Amino acid sequence: MLAKEGHNITVLEKNEFAGGRASVYSEEGFNFDMGPSWYLMPDVYENFFAEFGKKPEDLFELKRLDPSYRIFFGDTKVVDIASDLEENYKLFDEFE
Ligand SMILES: Cc1cc2nc3c(=O)[nH]c(=O)nc-3n(C[C@H](O)[C@H](O)[C@H](O)COP(=O)(O)OP(=O)(O)OC[C@H]3O[C@@H](n4cnc5c(N)ncnc54)[C@H](O)[C@@H]3O)c2cc1C
Repeated sequence: MLAKEGHNITVLEKNEFAGGRASVYSEEGFNFDMGPSWYLMPDVYENFFAEFGKKPEDLFELKRLDPSYRIFFGDTKVVDIASDLEENYKLFDEFE
């Protein structure tokens, strides 16, 4: 935003990679999200990108995952969070 206003900007980063908490740890062909997994509040990204005359889809492609998320309770119980809201209502009702 400051660069857009004409200021000369230097970005300093202590890690050897950009992205901060939105990083990935990879080992033996497996990738682990080290921070955010959910694409929350898309309008925030849209508004920010619009400040620079861009849309999110100009820079990255979103793919809906199903299941969106898998939760492990100990060694045996696994619960999948679906991408379909109605399915999740049913799932949460089962827990209640
Ligand atoms: C486990 C986990 C799960 C999360 N899940 C979600 C999610 O599902 N959805 C979601 O929207 N959000 C999620 N979040 C929150 C999200 O990750 C953060 O809100 C977001 O990454 C913050 O971005 P940021 O650029 O403000 O800060 P950061 O990503 O923390 O970036 C700060 C940067 O500054 C650098 N830095 C720090 N100190 C210095 C220094 N002295 N000199 C130079 N560089 C420095 C750091 O190395 C880092 O690159 C999650 C966070 C965690 C930890």
